[in-house]
Amino acid sequence: MAAQSKRYVIVGNGVAGTTAAEHIRKNDEEGRIILLTEEDLPFYSRIRLIDYLAGDVDEAELVIRAPEWYAQQRIELRTGTRVTGADPDRRVVTFDRGGEIPYDLLLLASGSHSFIPPIIGSDKLGSFALRNIADARQIVSRCRAGGEAVVIGGGLLGLEAGNSLRRRGMQVTVVEFLPRLLPRQLDPTGAEKLREIMEGMGFSFHLNISVHEIQGGTTVERVVLDDCEVLTADLVLIAAGVRPNLDLAGHLGVARNKGILVDDLLRTSRPEVFAAGDVTEFEGNVYGIWPAAAEQGRIAGTNMAGGSQRYRGTVAANKLKVAGIDLAAVGEIDAEGRYRSEVEEGEGVYRKRVFDQENRLIGAVLLGDISDLSGLIRAVGDNRP
Ligand SMILES: Cc1cc2nc3c(=O)[nH]c(=O)nc-3n(C[C@H](O)[C@H](O)[C@H](O)COP(=O)(O)OP(=O)(O)OC[C@H]3O[C@@H](n4cnc5c(N)ncnc54)[C@H](O)[C@@H]3O)c2cc1C
Repeated sequence: MAAQSKRYVIVGNGVAGTTAAEHIRKNDEEGRIILLTEEDLPFYSRIRLIDYLAGDVDEAELVIRAPEWYAQQRIELRTGTRVTGADPDRRVVTFDRGGEIPYDLLLLASGSHSFIPPIIGSDKLGSFALRNIADARQIVSRCRAGGEAVVIGGGLLGLEAGNSLRRRGMQVTVVEFLPRLLPRQLDPTGAEKLREIMEGMGFSFHLNISVHEIQGGTTVERVVLDDCEVLTADLVLIAAGVRPNLDLAGHLGVARNKGILVDDLLRTSRPEVFAAGDVTEFEGNVYGIWPAAAEQGRIAGTNMAGGSQRYRGTVAANKLKVAGIDLAAVGEIDAEGRYRSEVEEGEGVYRKRVFDQENRLIGAVLLGDISDLSGLIRAVGDNRP
């Protein structure tokens, strides 16, 4: 008797879920693959939401996988479908609108959500976070040339989204509670150079200070800082980091810490449940970056379909995508000066390479010249003196 084909259910059609579906199909011709997403688009580039916000691309240009691709791959994509529960004993996931879908193998690729700090007034109209196309549509509808935008958070997303608003003609002020910009990518010297460059582009910055309150009627009008300074605001964008979506892990009873804990096969604590992408925690790392989600999706999909590939981690590398600024950070940036480093400084250039005790390259900060970025990522990944 022929073995019954497997039923794979994937929650989330971001890069992790979609890459996994593709690799399940590569390794299993027969299985049924059901890909569920609460969003209303097929797989699209979350990274390029920045370009959409700036008005450089429209929605259709964001889409990476057109509907025909799903048909060719025999992947059943169900958009507008939010999974709200799961019963691990019966192996089903359930929906907010009622109904359920059984699975033999389940992949949690549900990504993360924007973290909103407990700021009074953050629920007013005109206060946004940017995680998905629905957020981006709302922000765009609120943009107006000559208006004032306050961005809360001076990390990569805050600066890139702030730049998109600036390009739409808004006056942008960034508030960051740490004393420097890009605290996870830059050391104090690099951050100071970046601030000068961005001020030259028209940004204003308030560093080392928290937002006390967002004020207005039903709609935002002002942002009040802890030192009582008041910034007028037609739009507030909160970019204070992301947190993995852990609700389903709770329903399934799989082990979790900051993210869903996975082993190097991308299995969770339940053998029939895998996880990949922003939602996971692997050896203490919650990566939150596209290349890690893609790689985990590839390995999880392959292994769900019977493979045994092992995930070895991803070198954290980030690039600031603001036209006119070349900036990237790789691995350990050593903001506290704990390691030996080599620094090159010049007009508009700051480059630092960080070495451990065994003289292995463990990280780099590149500002003004990122021409050797891919070589440096490889060198950090090689882990050799
Ligand atoms: C504006 C922006 C710019 C970025 N820029 C970069 C960059 O330059 N470089 C980089 O490396 N990374 C960048 N990132 C991060 C990168 O996009 C993420 O690391 C990546 O998208 C994670 O992929 P994922 O598949 O794990 O999750 P996601 O892309 O978050 O996809 C998860 C999907 O699951 C859906 N979902 C969640 N819960 C449920 C549920 N219960 N039922 C149904 N569907 C559900 C979500 O709606 C979402 O569509 C950026 C992120 C944003 C928002």
